Amino acid sequence: MNVYDSNLMASILEKEGHKEAETLDDADVIIVNTCAVREHAVRRAMTRIRGLKNLKKRKPELRIGVTGCISQIEKQNILTKIPFADFVLGTDSLKEISSCAADRNGAFSDFASDAIYSELAPARGKFPEAFVSVMRGCNNFCSYCIVPYARGKVKSRKFEHIIKEVVELSHSGYKRIVLLGQNVNDYKDRGKGLPHLLKAITKIKSIERIGFLTSHPAFFPLHIFDVMKDEPKIERFLHLPLQSGSDRVLKLMNRGYTVSQYLEIIEKARNKISDIALSTDIIVGFPYETEKDFTATIKVIRDISFNSAFMFKYSPRKYTLANSFGDLTSETEKKERLQKLIKTQSAITKEKNNYYKGKILEVLITGKNKKNSLESDAITVYNKKVVVKGSYMKGELVKVLIDDIQGCSPIGVPLKEPLDSRKH
Ligand code: SAH
Ligand code: SF4
Repeated sequence: MNVYDSNLMASILEKEGHKEAETLDDADVIIVNTCAVREHAVRRAMTRIRGLKNLKKRKPELRIGVTGCISQIEKQNILTKIPFADFVLGTDSLKEISSCAADRNGAFSDFASDAIYSELAPARGKFPEAFVSVMRGCNNFCSYCIVPYARGKVKSRKFEHIIKEVVELSHSGYKRIVLLGQNVNDYKDRGKGLPHLLKAITKIKSIERIGFLTSHPAFFPLHIFDVMKDEPKIERFLHLPLQSGSDRVLKLMNRGYTVSQYLEIIEKARNKISDIALSTDIIVGFPYETEKDFTATIKVIRDISFNSAFMFKYSPRKYTLANSFGDLTSETEKKERLQKLIKTQSAITKEKNNYYKGKILEVLITGKNKKNSLESDAITVYNKKVVVKGSYMKGELVKVLIDDIQGCSPIGVPLKEPLDSRKH
């Protein structure tokens, strides 16, 4: 989401005549777009901003701005913490970036109900893949989460604006679209939801792959699996954050579902799409999480057998409900739990990767492999990155035989000649 917003600001600035600088030294304006989801992200962003102090000293006319979630939370306080910053913009004030970049000082505006940038399409970097934001904000208020405070109430973009953006992307040659929302199954515009969006995008001719992130297990629209099953362009992949395998912790987290309700969704998904790839998010060390709760999480992780998982140690966030909970779990215990969880999931991921071995899969070429220029990076319909032997064009669909797994990467031997040996 932050990358999307950075690109949005870049495209607003480009329209005003600005150009991307090659290096920090070359820049007349530097914008640090921040994330506040965990303390680690905040620390990194603040270190990055403070690191610009000397540059500003050498070049006083340089304009430095702080945008994104930290700015939204801290508001003008940022200007006290970072006195050499010239402007601060919240998550709903991106349009003001051009006047801030030009001259005026210290702008900050709060949430605006209409600030959804529905009609704006951002500049892109990662051809042939593009993220398309379909909504902003979140109303869920999970007790640990800063997002509703940093990004405000949920606002869906207009259906036709999203379709227009994807059509334009298809004209520019983009092949893979990932629809983005904090709770993407909550997308609603005049009676149209995520399944409508997915179906409409499958009709856009040159788009080959469609994914969506992040789904929420409460009120998950189960009929989405029928749409996924019937439409080969929709990725056979679901990212569904579980957060904890204990009902007691899920309740404290205010997640709005139980473990058995979650398992029901997974069962339905696998009944409809037997080879669906699954990923999740887990938080360990939530206040009052006992060893018993943690063991329950490990059990669910093993029972479901996710293809991958993002695993985090709980990070207390100001303003959130959980910040006022007492916390009896020691830091050492939290670290140990995280290590144990990562170890458990790594073994499962390894085993799941082996599933691809010997399979013939159609993969989308996403670029040259960084380590070996004679190989290409690609992505499967299961949202799994693979390395393909040989040079292929970005955006090309290539059938490969997965003949090996190296580390986490399946290796594909193409069943189609590489670029350099093709006859014209
Ligand atoms: N909207 C998505 C994800 C939002 S943030 C959802 O609800 O699933 C991405 C992930 O960061 C979350 O799923 C959660 O696992 C993690 N996260 C959010 N706040 C956190 C916190 N305070 N400490 C640790 N992890 C957190
Ligand atoms: Fe945060 Fe929960 Fe909203 Fe996800 S659904 S962004 S975890 S409040």
